[in-house]
Amino acid sequence: MSKINGFLGRRNFLKFVGLSTLSIGTLTACNKIITNRSEIIIPENNPNPNPVSAEEAKRRLIAGNRRFVNQNRQYPNQSKRQLQSVSKKQYPYAAILGCADSRVPPEIIFDQGLGDLFVVRVAGNIASNETIGSLEYSAATLGTQLIVVLGHKGCGAVSAAIDNQPNDGNINSVIDDIKPSLSPNSRTRRNINDVNDVNNAVINNIEYQARKLQNNSQIIDRLIRDDRLKIIGAYYDINTGKVRFLN
Ligand SMILES: [Zn+2]
Repeated sequence: MSKINGFLGRRNFLKFVGLSTLSIGTLTACNKIITNRSEIIIPENNPNPNPVSAEEAKRRLIAGNRRFVNQNRQYPNQSKRQLQSVSKKQYPYAAILGCADSRVPPEIIFDQGLGDLFVVRVAGNIASNETIGSLEYSAATLGTQLIVVLGHKGCGAVSAAIDNQPNDGNINSVIDDIKPSLSPNSRTRRNINDVNDVNNAVINNIEYQARKLQNNSQIIDRLIRDDRLKIIGAYYDINTGKVRFLN
């Protein structure tokens, strides 16, 4: 699919049209995906006039994390000028599905500023309807071409899923969304034998949630198949500050 800068006319948009009778999307000959959702429109081409490729986005994240680890942060894009610039329009170059854990703030550990990252944080970095919807917005409407699923060492939400103890309140819905990643079928790492090791389970959960993002979103799946979006997993070590990309 060709890249054209700037916004395109309505006739150049792909339309996602809602029908309540169907639960599974159908790709028709006229480029419409029929779903059970309300009408969703994504631009046929990237809405960002200067799209940032997934590869370049990953390079920026790696460089920023290196600065953070080396205590050499530049605090980029945090000036008043940047504040005013992004108040008009945002084109974040990467989206992060990260854990709500207070020790894992993406803008700090990647040394980024205002408008750089579209950050979605929830305990256990789970792909729920709300987080998937937020990331669809980032990818389809803002033109972000990289989604990073960011898990971390010592994740309490993953530990709770392993412990499998009854909990009070709504935290169970978080834990229930992590549990499938603990099943043998979800263990994608052949060298990981002990799923009860919380950090092995964290990696399995990262990969499980990344797959779920694509499998549960026709928009994300479509963008990936059109080579307009990539999802990668990453593991953050809360002791060293280092992010290791898994793919
Ligand atoms: Zn966590």
